[in-house]
Amino acid sequence: MLDCAIIGGGPAGLTAGLYTTRGGLKNVVLFEKGLPGGQITQSSEIENYPGFFDHTKSGMDFMDSWQKQCFSFGLEHRMDEVLQIQKDGENFSIQIAGKDPVLAKSIIVCTGSTPKRAGIIGEDEFFGKGVSTCATCDGFFYKNKEVAVLGGGDTALEEAYYLSNICSKVYLIHRRDSFRAAPSTVQRVENKKNIEIILDTTVTKILGDNMGVNGILLKDKNENETKLEIPGIFVFVGHNVNNNVLRTSDNNFLCDVNGQGQVIVNLKMHTSVEGLFAAGDIRIDAPKQVISAAGDGAIAALEVISYLQERS
Ligand code: FAD
Ligand code: NAP
Repeated sequence: MLDCAIIGGGPAGLTAGLYTTRGGLKNVVLFEKGLPGGQITQSSEIENYPGFFDHTKSGMDFMDSWQKQCFSFGLEHRMDEVLQIQKDGENFSIQIAGKDPVLAKSIIVCTGSTPKRAGIIGEDEFFGKGVSTCATCDGFFYKNKEVAVLGGGDTALEEAYYLSNICSKVYLIHRRDSFRAAPSTVQRVENKKNIEIILDTTVTKILGDNMGVNGILLKDKNENETKLEIPGIFVFVGHNVNNNVLRTSDNNFLCDVNGQGQVIVNLKMHTSVEGLFAAGDIRIDAPKQVISAAGDGAIAALEVISYLQERS
């Protein structure tokens, strides 16, 4: 029986691993289906993590020391995909692909989220080389340059506004003639001089070479095609929360989630189920940043330690 199982080895899961093991728990396993590190390992640079100020290092380099630090305190990593978490009395049963279930007294779910891709030609090829899903992370690379933003929801409009304070011009491209975003946000964007709104238009292709993106092709509702020569495009077409491990056999969820499938937690990362905690991008209102995911992981770990002390 594990004291604590951590599902997902991104910044939230690794920090939870550090705080649980360093806090004295002996029997903690991190289940991570790939190499630990999470989404940030896809990024070529990280500039907004306090204390880390080396532009020559990638997200992969950045996360490398996190694993070493956790493992040095006794965290065990199993490269397994968790399929489902079930409640088993006061414990949990973890269903693992191709293996026998494992029992745990407590669980921290840190499976993160996945920004949706729009399915444009060139989007995958140039992801991280001019195609981004994070303005906070990558906007500064386009200081005083022109960029495009794709999407018509709150995220796209808020991020277009954020980028308009960094970039010389932002082309906001949306496939319909009206936005899904809140009216006040739409108005703020419409009033911003260096945001050009392009409606009823799709991006059909992202162009580039071995230096990265250098343009996009657009098609309007009359099938007219135009080309924009820009070095970057930000795709904000929604997020998928990786919550499958919490799905029950009757297609509900083990704990409370909101309409977007984000796990509802309190400020201590408690879910609605005792002994089950969630941290990082998977939780409600997540800022979707490494630092906040790490903070959540630390909070959840400290709560697990208290929970197990109270239980024994
Ligand atoms: P994730 O990082 O998503 O990690 C979740 C982990 O869980 C993954 O490793 C996944 O393999 C694993 N997992 C999922 N399901 C299962 C399962 N069933 N079984 C086992 N393992 C599973 N943030 C910043 O602060 N600064 C930046 O500069 C920055 N740049 C970014 C650049 C890019 C390209 C991207 C995509 C994101 C960037 N972010 C940045 C956002 C940041 O990476 C995320 O907010 C953060 O990684 C979230 O951490 P997490 O631990 O909650 O989840
Ligand atoms: P969203 O509301 O789902 O909007 C996604 C947008 O992307 C939509 O405009 C959609 O177009 C467009 N889109 C989807 N697939 C596309 C594709 N393949 N190609 C081109 N465009 C595509 O996602 P979100 O903006 O990330 O917001 C998610 C949730 O968080 C929403 O409930 C939102 O209100 C909330 N949120 C709130 C705030 C806030 O309150 N301040 C901030 C951010 C997010 P259509 O409109 O045509 O479907």
